[in-house]
Amino acid sequence: MPGSSPSPVVFGYNNPMNPRIYLDYAATTPLRPEVRAAMDPYLTADGFGNPSSLHADGQQAKRALDTARDILAGALGCQFSEISFTSGGTESDNAALVGVMLANKPRGTHLITTQIEHEAVTETARFLETLGLRITYLPVDEFGIVSPQSVADALTDETVLVSVMHANNEVGTIQPLREIADIVHARGAWLHTDAVQTFGLLPVTIDALGADLLTLSAHKIYGPKGAGALYVRSGIAIEPLLHGGGQERQRRAGTENVAAIAGFGEAVRLLLPERDAEAARLTFLRDRLWSGLSERIPGVVLNGHPTNRLPNNLNFSLPGLDAETLLLSLDRTGVSASSGSACTSGSIEPSRVLSAMGLPDARLKSALRLTLGRGTTEEEIDRTVEILARIAERLSCVKN
Ligand code: PLP
Repeated sequence: MPGSSPSPVVFGYNNPMNPRIYLDYAATTPLRPEVRAAMDPYLTADGFGNPSSLHADGQQAKRALDTARDILAGALGCQFSEISFTSGGTESDNAALVGVMLANKPRGTHLITTQIEHEAVTETARFLETLGLRITYLPVDEFGIVSPQSVADALTDETVLVSVMHANNEVGTIQPLREIADIVHARGAWLHTDAVQTFGLLPVTIDALGADLLTLSAHKIYGPKGAGALYVRSGIAIEPLLHGGGQERQRRAGTENVAAIAGFGEAVRLLLPERDAEAARLTFLRDRLWSGLSERIPGVVLNGHPTNRLPNNLNFSLPGLDAETLLLSLDRTGVSASSGSACTSGSIEPSRVLSAMGLPDARLKSALRLTLGRGTTEEEIDRTVEILARIAERLSCVKN
């Protein structure tokens, strides 16, 4: 109707207009309404200034960046100047690996990472290989854990950086980072960690983890897509990926995405006081989901560590069934789930992470990842058990 305002958008999966069950919070999370409200001023005529401009309009935008940076620095327990904003987790991972390795060639040309990192790290490491750098990809055990001893064994005098993720996005396994950090530092190298999956669920501070560089992404914590941050310990030289203006203390050229960064800051501010209680709630729901599934579905088997895993992550296999068929059946029944691994042109590749854990073929082919979040309810969990049990039974009958 001309002149009428558009109907308000209803956010979240917990609303009567959207009866689907969303269990893919590791892929992305819905924007919190409060976060959207915090972004609004910078998307309208009132707060559109360029934060690099010296006039009042620019300085208003600059204050939004300062506020967000302050919130992130407070959350991580680091200095304000050690946070750079980026376009997301992928850019932060690229900037950490490429930036440190290129800027510190006189220190050495060896990078250590693991076989189970997110593609934003592994593909960047592969790119660095093409530039002549030496990369070690550490194996993991059957639970997806990187042994600190394997890090110690791989370190050489040439090692500049070690990149080990805080927790894995597919199986949720949490790494013994502090122990790894001490080993890395004893050999004079630096530790980068991708904390994209943990920041919303676990305490993440620079001191506790011992990281020298750390990656965050806003859209995994109910913030907007296209915003992230990289913590770089003061004193570590880093070559920027993007050259141009002097934004972000010369570490990342380009006018900042002010609205998204303001939203990122607000998402973090809202998260911190709620994080522990929400993690406990999700652990309870995750455990209820697992006991329901293991009671109802014969042969279902957990992937990843039984206890040392993210509170919201359940990754399991239904040997004999096919992950893609399971996912499509779940989707048709109104459940958004994931196999955890990349989907290439509509077909699911066997997961790199589960392969590195040495799982047999039948488990690789039938792995599902269900990840819970703020909108997940007990009722949804019970409904999911029912739905998946029925799908598994039907598919087993068809097969036999
Ligand atoms: N690192 C991890 C562990 C992730 O799970 C993701 C997203 O799935 C990324 C990095 C990439 O983050 P973004 O989507 O913000 O680029």
